[in-house]
Amino acid sequence: MPSGIIVGGIAKKGAFVDVLIVESSSLYREILQQSFNRFRGVNFTLIATRAEALVETARKSFDFVVISGQLTDSDGLSLGRQLRGDGLVPVAPVVLLTGSPSAELALQAERAGITEIFRKQDLDELVAFARHFLDAQQPLRCRILYVEDAVEQRLLLEAQLREWGADVDAFASADEAWPVFLREKYDLVVTDVVLGGHMTGSRLINRIRRLEPPRGAVPVLAVTAFDSPQRRVELFHLGIDDYVAKPIFPAELRARIHNLISRKRAEERNRDVLAATELGVTIVDEEGFILSMDDNARQMFGLAGDVESRNFASLLVAEEGPKCMESLRWLISEGGIQRLRFDGVHGDGHAIPLQLSSLEIEPADGGRRFALLTRDISDEQVLADQLTRARESAARLGQLKSEFLANVSHELRTPLNAIVGMSFLLKHDPLPKDQMDRVEHIDAAGQRLLGLIDDILDFSKLESGQLEMQSISMSVYDVLAKAAAMVEKRASAKGIAVRIDADSLPAQLCGDPERLTQALLNYATNAVKFTERGTVILKASATEEGDSFYTVRFAVIDSGIGIAPENLASIFESFQQADGSSTRRFGGTGLGLAITRELVQLMGGEVGVTSEPGKGSTFWFTARLARAAEPDSQSLEAAEFSSTAIAERFSGVRILLAEDEPVNRELTLSLLGNAGLQVDIAQDGLAAVRAVRENDYALVLMDIQMPHMDGIQAARLIRTMPDRTSLPIIAVTANAFEGDRRRCFEAGMNDFIPKPVVPRLLYTVIFRWLSLGHVPRADSVNIAG
Ligand code: ADP
Repeated sequence: MPSGIIVGGIAKKGAFVDVLIVESSSLYREILQQSFNRFRGVNFTLIATRAEALVETARKSFDFVVISGQLTDSDGLSLGRQLRGDGLVPVAPVVLLTGSPSAELALQAERAGITEIFRKQDLDELVAFARHFLDAQQPLRCRILYVEDAVEQRLLLEAQLREWGADVDAFASADEAWPVFLREKYDLVVTDVVLGGHMTGSRLINRIRRLEPPRGAVPVLAVTAFDSPQRRVELFHLGIDDYVAKPIFPAELRARIHNLISRKRAEERNRDVLAATELGVTIVDEEGFILSMDDNARQMFGLAGDVESRNFASLLVAEEGPKCMESLRWLISEGGIQRLRFDGVHGDGHAIPLQLSSLEIEPADGGRRFALLTRDISDEQVLADQLTRARESAARLGQLKSEFLANVSHELRTPLNAIVGMSFLLKHDPLPKDQMDRVEHIDAAGQRLLGLIDDILDFSKLESGQLEMQSISMSVYDVLAKAAAMVEKRASAKGIAVRIDADSLPAQLCGDPERLTQALLNYATNAVKFTERGTVILKASATEEGDSFYTVRFAVIDSGIGIAPENLASIFESFQQADGSSTRRFGGTGLGLAITRELVQLMGGEVGVTSEPGKGSTFWFTARLARAAEPDSQSLEAAEFSSTAIAERFSGVRILLAEDEPVNRELTLSLLGNAGLQVDIAQDGLAAVRAVRENDYALVLMDIQMPHMDGIQAARLIRTMPDRTSLPIIAVTANAFEGDRRRCFEAGMNDFIPKPVVPRLLYTVIFRWLSLGHVPRADSVNIAG
């Protein structure tokens, strides 16, 4: 091969890189050194003057030179020019630091062979710049296969590569090198192009490139004796990554090798990262035929050996083969699909839940290529299944709890119905004062118990999301008035005034008047309970007015004991009381505020409180109420009626009461007697059905739990009678859950009165239904069943 093997002989090996800093200010020298200290393996030569610089550069060679623009004995630019001109620093970068860069200076620096100019304050940039040069000086640490038939050249370059830190296997011919290449792992192939022997360098390159990656993707650096552009183009088409021309200039060769190796390392890093993600990568063509598959994917599918030219669709669960193929084709053609769920088939036959993504990669052999990324999501699937099971069992438990509460509530309500009802009746009898007082106590205790059951029931409904809100036309003022009326008696007994303050709100808005009253009443009851003197104000005002809604702020302001700041935060939690001891002093469960908060959330509002111990509290909530279509102040829904109202309009009207429990029956009968109605009795569902078939009633009051036939079934049967389709049937039941209510309506009943029966509600419902229907008369009470 031609002479002029390596220009300048073997370059020194650098375990350290040498940096020269020429700077007259000792402080700035220090700063510069500190900045460069971030690199490991750097030797610094710090000097102050041009004279010293000339001595040092003559003595040894440097890898990077920094010169200050102003030195005590010269300017930096002319020093740089001299270092280059005299060949003292022929190759290493020389950078100039200046306080005031200019276009003129840049031009002069360029002409003087200065590599770059930096402003003195841009040290970070200088260091980042230097990093590339210093990194390139680190030992090469790679394994190189080197093929060169010229002995002298081979020995020299081999020694040079070793000097740079590479591991080298050198061969005189491609024929010798090829089997070793197939056996060993190399980071780089450096080969002469024109080789003696059977195989030329071009042939070697071509053979390498025909192999599958990673071996087929090893970087190849060609060494050429000629420097014709046409030959270079050919070499690049053959698949070389770079080339150097003879005679070889060591710094250039090193720079090129460094470049190729860093690119290869970066690719390896990417591959390692991919392997660490446990993503399987399969490269396929447009038809889904596998071109290559990485270890992750092979492991995922349990595949060993040759998988190339199989179709990827054969690795997916194919209940319907063509459909699977179709989805795969779609997946491929969309290129860039993210995270589809597929089931794959493992080599041993079991299904693997997979997440599949596809992306188009660079084309090859004239066709398009796609990477299919697969992730085994078995573990997540197991977790998801566990979660579903846990959720189901929680739901089952919730259901059980609801059923339990429904039963408890039913069992409590039945005797309570008698207690509350009987004391209601007794209070209307002429009793001596002491007895009347006792009846009042029984009544009060019954009412409290009832409130408690209602609270617990509401709480459980809210917890299980069973509570449904109504949206009917109502008056906010009425809500305030009703809540106020309900605490009035207790307040006046303590000498507290209750006031209502309603800002100019529309007469009617749409909302759930019952739930609003309940929320407000919870506040008002507390306000009265925790206030000894002064006033309790129930207030409503609009805080926001939208096109279709108002946000109304309800507040209850008291002048009571107040709440300590540390207790305010948790006051709306369930079972929380500001003062643990208040249970004894004031009684209560700590449920009221929690219920209010939940109710208000359902109404799209918020709750809050401000309070000062000793001064009083303001509990507030907001609710979003729709504008009512039209004023509806005469609505029957909203009005309440008494027994007298019924007696005035419907005296002597005949209705049926189906109730098996004697005490409750007696109670309801007495209540109905006040209203002047004619009441027939049925003692079970069967008797009720018979009575309805034989008589023409204006209305039926139907208990639900009865012997022989329950109320639900009885109602269903009645609805099958042709002339009884519009007969009002009203459920009267201790089963007070929403589900019970629904069951009643599904059986064809028209309304629902929970036990214990609140007389006013009973009268109101009866009045409402009698007003709507036909009203037959009868003259006698008839006991059926
Ligand atoms: P209960 O009153 O049944 O205990 P609540 O949830 O209604 O439950 O109230 C929780 C606690 O908040 C009360 O026990 C009391 O300590 C405090 N609290 C509520 N309202 C007031 C108020 N207006 N003034 C002072 N403390 C109050």
